[in-house]
Amino acid sequence: MYKIIILLNLAMRELVDELKNIELAIFDLDGVIYRGDILISNSDKVIQELKDISIKVVYNSNNSTVTRQMYVDRLKGFNINSEVSDFYTSASITSEEITNQKQNATIFVIGEIGLKEELKAKGHTIVNPTSNYKNVDFVIVGLDREFNYKKLAFAQNCILQGKAQFYATNSDSTLPAASGLLPGAGVMVNAVETCTNKKPLKIFGKPNPYGIQMILNHTNVSPDKSVIFGDRLNTDILAGNRARINTVLVLTGVTAEFDVKKIQEKAIRSQVIDKNLIPNLVIKSLLGIFKE
Ligand SMILES: [Mg+2]
Repeated sequence: MYKIIILLNLAMRELVDELKNIELAIFDLDGVIYRGDILISNSDKVIQELKDISIKVVYNSNNSTVTRQMYVDRLKGFNINSEVSDFYTSASITSEEITNQKQNATIFVIGEIGLKEELKAKGHTIVNPTSNYKNVDFVIVGLDREFNYKKLAFAQNCILQGKAQFYATNSDSTLPAASGLLPGAGVMVNAVETCTNKKPLKIFGKPNPYGIQMILNHTNVSPDKSVIFGDRLNTDILAGNRARINTVLVLTGVTAEFDVKKIQEKAIRSQVIDKNLIPNLVIKSLLGIFKE
């Protein structure tokens, strides 16, 4: 009996005033739910509690290298149940947007399995650098850890000599890794930009708001009843504020309290800074969404 009462109490913790009207919670993954292979403590419980009070939970990541099914499996390993449709990766967002433009397109991808599989699942044909560049409709660039000169030259050819339109999944300059930092998708995007003298027509990932707008459309929740939880100001928070939803910075990832103070002071002194970089709420961990 005693145990049941404790469980009920846990499930009925009240959300802080800033979040009391929320119907949709969008979570960034790395730095919010887990760090690398390690679950950030209590993130699984907080997600379950939100679901228990009928808040819709989805996940939004800029990582285009893994499929959404791989994410379902990864979260399962942390005891978090989810479905493929709960994930909005820069690869899945790109695939949906590209499909809206053209069905059954011929696409050259600088990227990995996540992006390729999402595009194939929508009926597109992925070609390799020995194909005829004249047939390629789109060059789509994401993080590719087997990026090389041959791929770059073919992309250049498709865009400059052929008819291909250039798009990118995201433009993150770096990728957090256990050993420190690694080069991000932005490096490959810049390489294609440099040799074609063209910018991508669209970059689908954060800090652009396309993914969040897609989530709002799919879930039919209004921006004021939606919130994004992220650990990065220049992707998660910027995207959330651009989409006019609530933004919560969680200090369990790349951003420290010191970074937030620095940016708030700059804003106060009216130094040039994008106000959209400032979150509505800063919490030390996800438990900060509940009243004490
Ligand atoms: Mg993150």
